[in-house]
Amino acid sequence: MREAKGKIIVITAPSGSGKTTLVRRLMAAVPKLGFSISACTRTPRTGEQHGVDYYFFSADEFKQMIDEDAFVEWEMVYTAKYYGTTKAELERIWGEGQTPLVDIDVQGALAIKNKYPGNSLTIFIEAPSLEALRERLIARGTETPQTLEERISKAEYELMFAPQFDRILINEDLEKATKELVDMVTEFIK
Ligand code: 5GP
Repeated sequence: MREAKGKIIVITAPSGSGKTTLVRRLMAAVPKLGFSISACTRTPRTGEQHGVDYYFFSADEFKQMIDEDAFVEWEMVYTAKYYGTTKAELERIWGEGQTPLVDIDVQGALAIKNKYPGNSLTIFIEAPSLEALRERLIARGTETPQTLEERISKAEYELMFAPQFDRILINEDLEKATKELVDMVTEFIK
C-alpha cells in the first residue's frame, strides 16, 4: 500500500450505462473535483488533444514510464494499446487543492482501490439491466451488430466485479442517479 496525498474518486461503468452524462453532471456540481487525464498509446481521435483528452505517448515512451515507476496503475486495455494513470497527474490535481476523479475500467479501478484503500472511493455505475443496456446502445446508434454483442459481453464480464466496488450506483433514473452520485462523492471528500 502507498500513501496517498489526498482522496481519490474512481468511477467505472460499462459503455451504455450513462457514465459520461453522470460524470459531466458530477464535475459541474462538485467544483473540488479535478478530472484525471490518463496516459495512453492509442492514436488520438479527431478533435482529441494531448493533455486534454489523454496524454498521448508512443509505446516506447509508455514502456519507459513503466520502467521509471511513473504509474499508479496501467493496463493493456486493447491489444498493444496501453492506458494508465500517472502519479504525476494525481499529484498535479492534489497540488491544485482538488480531488482527482479517475474515470477508468474495472481492473484499473480495483488496482487503485488496492493501492489506496483508505483514501479512495470506487463507484461502479450500472444500467438497470443488460436488456436496458442493449436498448441504450441500440438507441445511441454507434454500434454494428458485432460491436454491440462485444460491448454487451464485456459489460456482462465487468458486472461480475461490481461487488468489489465501494458503491454500486444503478442508473435507472438520471436525476435520481445524479443526486445519489453527487451526495456520495460530497460526503466522501468533505
Ligand atoms: P478509449 O480508447 O475508448 O478512450 O478508452 C478505452 C478504455 O480504456 C475505456 O474502457 C477506459 O475506461 C479505459 N481507460 C482509459 N484510461 C485508463 C487508465 O488510465 N487506466 C485504465 N486501466 N484504463 C483506462
